Amino acid sequence: METLEERIEKAKRIDDRNPGIHLSRKCAVCGMPKTPNVWLCNACQDEFGQSKDWPEWVRFMVNDHRRELRYDKEHKDEIDF
Ligand SMILES: [Zn+2]
Repeated sequence: METLEERIEKAKRIDDRNPGIHLSRKCAVCGMPKTPNVWLCNACQDEFGQSKDWPEWVRFMVNDHRRELRYDKEHKDEIDF
């Protein structure tokens, strides 16, 4: 089993490739709470699948969400896990 610290470290490494992803605790599509290292909640992942299978509008929502998170990161010193 992974510890919480290991999961956070892993999320940070994922963040190197996908800026902002570990900051997000809300589903990019429906706004429901989700785990930090993915873009969609479980229900939306069931619905839309992997990122390569997302419809155009889902990609758009995620990009938009990511822009918001970048903005937050620039304007907030504290990140609350
Ligand atoms: Zn969702």
